[in-house]
Amino acid sequence: MIRTENVVKVFSGRGVEVRAVDGVSTSVNKGEVVVIIGPSGSGKSTFIRCVNGLESFDEGHVYIDGVDIADRKTNINKIRAEVGMVFQQFNLFPHKTVLENLTLAQRKVRKRKKSVADEKARMLLRKVGIAEKESEYPSRLSGGQQQRVAIARALAMDPKVMLFDEPTSALDPEMVGEVLDVMKQLAREGMTMMVVSHEMGFAREVADRVLFMDQGKIVEVGTPEHFFSNPQEERTKLFLKQVL
Ligand code: ADP
Ligand code: MG
Repeated sequence: MIRTENVVKVFSGRGVEVRAVDGVSTSVNKGEVVVIIGPSGSGKSTFIRCVNGLESFDEGHVYIDGVDIADRKTNINKIRAEVGMVFQQFNLFPHKTVLENLTLAQRKVRKRKKSVADEKARMLLRKVGIAEKESEYPSRLSGGQQQRVAIARALAMDPKVMLFDEPTSALDPEMVGEVLDVMKQLAREGMTMMVVSHEMGFAREVADRVLFMDQGKIVEVGTPEHFFSNPQEERTKLFLKQVL
């Protein structure tokens, strides 16, 4: 469902070049959950931004369900609608209600009638456990509730894959669980997911595969069992010692 070939992203400014993503090739099969771990600055965010076309890249290819997203014939807005993205900061529209947050793109991009979009939105709000908040503005919700709205909003587009970039890092500790529970439920339902996370418990429980990134490269790939009982690379061992 997701395939990347040798993706390279270079940031340059003031004569300094940073190879934020330095030749990343990987894939996520339909229904798989891949968790990306790695130290701060290792290129995790840049990489998943490349995967959904938020970031242009210098070399390589990204295929979503077989379609090259950089191909000029490919409609990038269509790809973005197929790739749900959830960020650390919830990025909800502050001046729209919860319900409107879930219906805006459905109506504009998917061209759904109001009644159809509303019904889908309400179904998803029930699914993430915040149906009673549909008329509230985001600022009235807790961080955990806002992030669940953000997940529901992404799901409203019927994405083929969901990308998450540290979805619980901005949350108070007591709210982490409620967001992870929604993600676990999605995984059980067979959603294809790529998740950047520092939540090692989530990785252990849910991931089909874990990727360890450092300095723009995938250093080690394996099952959670492999990572948490028998990591091979020194850099992986060092990182896991710090986070576990
Ligand atoms: P991670 O998500 O693993 O913490 P990032 O993808 O955010 O890492 O960053 C990877 C590297 O790219 C870092 O060195 C970071 O400073 C650099 N970087 C990220 N975004 C930009 C940008 N917009 N301009 C310049 N450098 C950037
Ligand atoms: Mg990041």
